[in-house]
Amino acid sequence: MFEQLLANNAAYVEREAPAPLDVRPSLELAIVTCMDSRLDVFASLGLAHGQAHVLRNAGGIITDDTIRSLALSQRRLGTTSVMLIHHEDCGLQLVSEEGFSRELEEAAGERPPFAIGAFVDVEASVRTSLGRVRSSPFLLHRDAVRGYVYEIANGRLREVG
Ligand code: ZN
Repeated sequence: MFEQLLANNAAYVEREAPAPLDVRPSLELAIVTCMDSRLDVFASLGLAHGQAHVLRNAGGIITDDTIRSLALSQRRLGTTSVMLIHHEDCGLQLVSEEGFSRELEEAAGERPPFAIGAFVDVEASVRTSLGRVRSSPFLLHRDAVRGYVYEIANGRLREVG
């Protein structure tokens, strides 16, 4: 698999040199979303490279590390708004907070220092993440923050108020 990806990269370099882009995203936007491989962030939003930061983790939840990235995004790279996108049928709905923590603890011999972020209600999870952005003292821009659920079946976004 790695060899195939390297071959793809060599073909990419032959085919198209990457356009020179400003390091600052042109839409002044940061998107936080899930790592789910079915969610094509660029295609589903009509985004082009260079327009937004895209931060992805399991669930697209706001963690300390997400706040770290957003702080850099806003304070050094000029983004002023945040778009949160969680989705239906997320892997974090397949585990429980305590159950997966215990599984890791049994495998590793120590309790994981991080929260799993498991959730049942995807809209409630979006609201929790919205609250974390809006209340973070490390961020410069906390007003232009909106949250959405991506519907895996049809690709549609619905806003969570
Ligand atoms: Zn997910």
